[in-house]
Amino acid sequence: MTDKYVYSFGDGKAEGDSSMKNLLGGKGANLAEMCKMGLPVPPGFTITTEVCDFYYQNNQQFPSSLNLEIENSIAAIEKIIGAKFGDIDNPLLFSVRSGSRASMPGMMDTVLNLGLNDKTVIGLANKSGNRRFAFDSYRRFIQMYSDVVLGFDHYNFEVIMDEKKQELGVVTDTELSVEALEGIVELFKQKIKEETKKDFPQDAKEQLWGAISAVFFSWMNERAITYRELNNIPSAWGTAVNIQSMVFGNMGETSATGVAFSRNPSNGNKELYGEYLINAQGEDVVAGIRTPQSITINGKKQSGSDLISMEESMPKIFAELVNIYQKLELHYKDMQDIEFTVQNNKLWMLQTRNGKRTAHAAVKIAVDMVKEGLIDKKEAIRRIDPESLDQLLHPTLDPKAKVKIIGNALPASPGAACGMVVFSSQDAEKKSESKKVILVRLETSPEDIKGMHVSEGILTARGGMTSHAAVVARGMGKPCVSGASFIQIDHNAKFFTTQDGIIVKEGDVITINGSNGDVILGEVPTLKPNLSDDFKLLMGWADGFRKLKIRANAETALDCQTARDFGAEGIGLCRTEHMFFNEDRIISVREMILAEDLEGRKKALAKLLPMQERDFFQIFKIMAGLPVTIRLLDPPLHEFLPHKDQEIIEVANQLGVEIDYVKRRNAQLKEENPMLGHRGCRLGISYPEIYEMQARAIFEAASEVKKQYNQDVLLEIMIPLVATKKEIEILKKLIIKVELEVEAKQKIKLNYLIGTMIELPRAALMADEIASEAEFFSFGTNDLTQTTFGLSRDDSAGFLGHYQNAGIFKKDPFAELDVDGVGQLIEIAVAKGKATRKNLKLGICGEHGGNPNSIYFFHKAGLDYVSCSPYRVPIARLAAAKANI
Ligand code: ADP
Ligand code: MG
Ligand code: MG
Repeated sequence: MTDKYVYSFGDGKAEGDSSMKNLLGGKGANLAEMCKMGLPVPPGFTITTEVCDFYYQNNQQFPSSLNLEIENSIAAIEKIIGAKFGDIDNPLLFSVRSGSRASMPGMMDTVLNLGLNDKTVIGLANKSGNRRFAFDSYRRFIQMYSDVVLGFDHYNFEVIMDEKKQELGVVTDTELSVEALEGIVELFKQKIKEETKKDFPQDAKEQLWGAISAVFFSWMNERAITYRELNNIPSAWGTAVNIQSMVFGNMGETSATGVAFSRNPSNGNKELYGEYLINAQGEDVVAGIRTPQSITINGKKQSGSDLISMEESMPKIFAELVNIYQKLELHYKDMQDIEFTVQNNKLWMLQTRNGKRTAHAAVKIAVDMVKEGLIDKKEAIRRIDPESLDQLLHPTLDPKAKVKIIGNALPASPGAACGMVVFSSQDAEKKSESKKVILVRLETSPEDIKGMHVSEGILTARGGMTSHAAVVARGMGKPCVSGASFIQIDHNAKFFTTQDGIIVKEGDVITINGSNGDVILGEVPTLKPNLSDDFKLLMGWADGFRKLKIRANAETALDCQTARDFGAEGIGLCRTEHMFFNEDRIISVREMILAEDLEGRKKALAKLLPMQERDFFQIFKIMAGLPVTIRLLDPPLHEFLPHKDQEIIEVANQLGVEIDYVKRRNAQLKEENPMLGHRGCRLGISYPEIYEMQARAIFEAASEVKKQYNQDVLLEIMIPLVATKKEIEILKKLIIKVELEVEAKQKIKLNYLIGTMIELPRAALMADEIASEAEFFSFGTNDLTQTTFGLSRDDSAGFLGHYQNAGIFKKDPFAELDVDGVGQLIEIAVAKGKATRKNLKLGICGEHGGNPNSIYFFHKAGLDYVSCSPYRVPIARLAAAKANI
C-alpha cells in the first residue's frame, strides 16, 4: 500500500492511466486515459480502491491523510474551472461516481449536481441565467442524494412529481415550469424532514463525504454482492470513487446527454449505435423515463422512430463524436461503450469502456478487427468467451411454425425463449424450480438480477436497447425483448393486456424472439442455429492454435451428423445402451435380462445383434475417416426393466411369461447401490455373451462399411468401469476371439484399438498395469468424480447448494472438474499409463469435456482429445485454442 489515495485528472493531464484499473477502477482509469489523449473530459479525481479496502478493514473509517489530498485536488479543479465548491455566487458542482475494476452495470448509483443547496442553487441560476435549469438540477440532486446516501425510498419523490404534473396537466418532466420545480424542491425537503426528522444537508463538504461513504458502503449491499457472486468478482477488489466536475445536459435545447457503442452491440455491424436525449441529465436515457432518440439517421430508420436523430439535430457535435469514437477504438483496439453530455453545444466525454456485446457481435467484431488490422488472430480468439458461443448455438424459432404474434418491440438480446409468464423476480425464482419461465416486468432493476438469471427470457414494457434489462440480458446470453409498450401490466393481479385486448395471465405460455422483437402467444417449435461465415472463420483460426482434438459424445445418426457439422474430429463416446432403449428393441433387451439361463439370453441377444449392427453401420458411415470409440454395455441391467405394475403386465404379455416371473426376476436383479454394483465390465465378466454380441455387431458393421465404401473405420472399443488389469485381459481375449471369427467369415482384415475407461480411483492408481493391456485410456470424469468424492451425481443435487453456499465447493464438481483432487488422479494415470505404453492414446469423455475451465486443465495434463456433447463442440474447440495460446 502506498499513501497516495487520490489521483487527479483534467485539463489534458492525469496522474493515472488505463493500465491502473486495479487501483483506480475501470471508470477512473479510463477517464484519466481519455484526458491524456486530449479528449474533452470534465476535470476530477479518483479515490483509489485501496481506500475501500482500508474502509472495511478499519471499521468504516478513512485514512487520515485522505481529507487533505481531497482538499488539494478540489482546489486544483477550482482553478481549472474558475468556480468554487460551496461558493454561493459561483458554485462548482460535482458528480460522485463509483467504479470498480470490472464493470458492474447499474450496481452502484451515481449522485449528480452535488454541492447544490438553498443558496448555491440561486448562484447557479444567476450564473447560468437559467433558473429553471438550476432548480431542475437541485430537485434531481435531492432525489439522487436522498436515495443513494440517505437510503430514502425514491418512490416518495415520484409520487410528489406525479402529483405536481397532474395538478399542472403536463406529462413529461421537461414541461414543468421553474415555479413548479421550485415547489417540488420545497415538497421534497419537507418530505425528508418529515420522514427522517432531519433537514436535507446544506453543507457541500458534508454532502461530499456523505456521498463518498455511500459509494464505499454500497460495495457490500445485497445487489452488489449478488452481482459479484454471479460474475465471480472477488469482494476484496473494492471500488474506487470518482469525483468529477459537472457538465450539464439539462441546460435547454442545445444541451443533451447520451450513450453510444462504437459498433452495434447486437449484431456487430461497424456503425455508431446509440441513444440520446435533448435537455436531459445523467441516466434519463437508460432509465426509461422518456423514450430515447437514436444518435444516427440510420439507427432512427432501423428503429422506425420519427424522433429527430442527433446526426440531424446537432450535426457538428455528431461529427465530433464520430471523430472521438474512432480515436477511442484505435486507441483501445476494441469496441467502446461511451457516455457523453453536450452542454450548450460543447461535447464532453464522461466514460468509455470496452462494450458488452452479444456472442454474435463479439465474433463479428473480433473477425472484422483482424481484417482491419487492429488486432491479430490470437487476440481475436482471446476475446471470445467460449461459454458465450452457447448463445449462437441456441435454437431459433422455426419460421414455418404458425405463430400468433401479439406484438413487436425491441430485439434487445437475441435468441428465442419460451416459458410460463411470471411478473416478479421472486415468482421467477420459485416457479423456475419446476417450469421454464419468462420474466415480464415494466422494466428491470438490479434487484431483478436473480430472477433474470433463472428465467428463459425477459420481456419489458419500457426501456430501450441500452436499458438495464437489455444490457444485463445480453451479458447473460438470455433472449430479451424490451420496450414492449403494447402491453399493459398489472403486477398485483398478475396479468398483462395487449393493445388488442389479449389477456395473458401468470402461468400462460408465451414465446419471445429476442432477435427480431416478436412476442408470441403459446409455445413455438425451434430450429438448429445457422452459423455465420465469421463464426466459421474464427473457429478455423482457433483450430490452427489448439493441440487438443475435439470429439463428441453421440450415438444416433442425427447427433453424429450434428457433431461433424460442428467440427467434431471423431466420436469419443458412443453409449451402446442408449440404443437399447429404442422402442423396437427394448423388449428384446428385457427378454435378455429376464432370461434365467444362457440359452434364454442367447436367444434374445440373437435378435439384438442385427439391430446393433445397423446402428454401428450408420455411425461408421457418417464418421468416415474419423475415430469412433464404442463403449460396451455399462449401466446396471435393472435400469432396463419395467417397474410400474402396468408396465410389468405389458412386458409379461409381450414375452408370454407369468407376471410373477417378471416380478421375481425384478426383485432378484434389484441392487441397493446400483452405481457401485453389477455394471460396466462386471457385466461382461459374468455374461460374456452380451459383450460378445456387441463385439460381433461392431466388427460386422465395420467389415460392411469397409466392403461397401472401401474405407477403414478408425475403431476403438472401450471397456467401462475397469479396476484391475485382469478384467481387461479377460475381456480383450473375448473381443479378439470374435474379431478373428468375423475376419475369417468376411475375409477381411480389421484395424482397431481396445482400451478402457479410467473412472475408478483404483484404475488411475494402477494405470501402469492396466496400460499393459489397454491401448487407450478415456477418463470417465463423471464416475471418477462420483467415486473420488464418494458423492452420487443423482442424489447430490439436494445438498450441493449448501456445499456451495458454505464455501466447501466453489463450483459444482460435476460441472467443472475438481482439478485438485480428481485432477490429481488423472495426472497420476497419465504418467503411469505413459510409462508403460509410450503411445497410449488419452482422452476424456465426461461432461467436463465441454467445460472451458476443465478443458484448460486437460490441455495441461497432456491429453490427446476431449469429447463432449455435439452442441458444445465449438465451445470446446475455442477453449482448447485458448488453452494453448
Ligand atoms: P454508471 O456506472 O451506472 O454508468 P456513471 O457514474 O457513469 O454510472 O453515471 C451515470 C451517468 O451520470 C453518466 O452516464 C452521465 O450521464 C452522468 N454523469 C456522471 N458524471 C457526470 C458529470 N461529471 N457531468 C454530467 N453528467 C455526469
Ligand atoms: Mg448507474
Ligand atoms: Mg456510466
